[in-house]
Amino acid sequence: MMSTTTQTIHNFSAGPCILPQSVMQQASDAVLELNGSGLSLIEMSHRSKAFVEVMEEARSLVRSELQLPDRYEVLFLQGGASLGFLTTALNFTPVDGSMDYAVTGTWAKKALKEAKKMGQAQALTSSEDTGFDRIPALPGTSNASAVHITTNNTIFGTQYAGDPVVDKPLVADMSSDIFSRPVDIERYSCIYAGAQKNMGPAGTVLYIYDKEQAGQSGRDIPSYLDLQVHADKDSMFNTPPVFAIYTSMLTLRWLKAEGGVKAMQQRNAAKADCIYSEIDRNPLFNGFADTGSRSVMNATFTAQDDSHTPLFLEACAAAGINGIKGHRSVGGFRASMYNALPLSSVKVLAEVMQEFERTHG
Ligand SMILES: *Cc1c(COP(=O)(O)O)cnc(C)c1O
Repeated sequence: MMSTTTQTIHNFSAGPCILPQSVMQQASDAVLELNGSGLSLIEMSHRSKAFVEVMEEARSLVRSELQLPDRYEVLFLQGGASLGFLTTALNFTPVDGSMDYAVTGTWAKKALKEAKKMGQAQALTSSEDTGFDRIPALPGTSNASAVHITTNNTIFGTQYAGDPVVDKPLVADMSSDIFSRPVDIERYSCIYAGAQKNMGPAGTVLYIYDKEQAGQSGRDIPSYLDLQVHADKDSMFNTPPVFAIYTSMLTLRWLKAEGGVKAMQQRNAAKADCIYSEIDRNPLFNGFADTGSRSVMNATFTAQDDSHTPLFLEACAAAGINGIKGHRSVGGFRASMYNALPLSSVKVLAEVMQEFERTHG
C-alpha cells in the first residue's frame, strides 16, 4: 500500500500485480461492508441480490468492454488459467479430434502437456529451440480440430503482434494481456485468462467463448470442467470466488472510466516505447526477445555484463522499483507493465538505467 510506505513503490510485478489504487480502496471497503448492506462482501450469500448484481455487472462489463456479440458466453470460474489448460482442451477438442498448440513459452508448453493427458494434442509450431525468444509465424491452416495459442508469453516477454487468423476454432490463453488492447473477437472461439495479471486478484479465471463452438466435443466432461454446466447456472454452479470477482468488476469499472481498451492500448504502447527505447539505447543492457515479437506487457532484458545484474537490482530497489527480477528461466530483468502501471513508473525505471550507465558504464 502506497499510503503506509515512506517511498512510492513502482510495482513491476509479473503477477499477482499492480491494480489501480482506487480499486484497492473500494475492495477493502467492501470487505468491511458492501454498499451499506450491513454485511461484508465475504460473509454474505453468493445467492443474495447484492452479490448476484456484482456477478452480472462483471459479466456485462466484459461484454461491453470487449464488444462481444451475443453468441459469446462470459463466465468467472476457479482453478486459474492452469485448470483452463485442461478445461479448454476438453471443451474444444472433439472426442475423435485433436488440438494443435503453438508452443511459445512455459505456459504454452504446460497447456500442451495437460491436453496430451487426453492423448490428442500436438505442437503446431515452437520457438523452444531459440529459447522462446520469439513468436513463430502461425500457419494459417491446421489439420487438427482446433488451435491453441498463448497471446502473451509472460515469462519470456513475447507477444503476438495482432489477432492471428487460422482456419480452425482458435482457443487463446490471454492471461497476461486481456483488456490491454481491443481484440478482434470473431477470430477466437475461446479466450481464457487468470485474473491476477491484468484484471484483479488471484482466485478467478475469465472464460469467453462462442456458444456455437462449445458443447460439440461429444465427451462426457466432469461437471466442473464442462463450460455448459457453468453457463446453464449463470456462472453460479458452485460458490464463486466472491472477492476476486468483485475486485475484477471494480477494475473493469475503472477500465471503462479510463476510456476502455483503446485508451489502455495507447497508454501501454507509450510505456513499452519508453522501456524498449532505453533498452536499445543503453549499451549496458540487452533486450531478450526478438524485436518483432516484443511484448507490450512484459519487457525482458539482461545486463551486458553478468556481474552488473545484482548491482542493477540493488539500484532498482533503492529507487522503489519492485518486482523487476527476471524469471529464473530467463534471468536478468523483467518489467511487467500491466494496465494499472503508470507511465511515470516506467520513466523512473528508464532513469535508473541511465544513471546506472553513468555510474557503471
Ligand atoms: C500466469 C499465467 C498462467 C497461470 O495462471 P494461474 O492462474 O496461476 O493458473 C497461465 N498462462 C499465462 C499466459 C500466464 O501468464
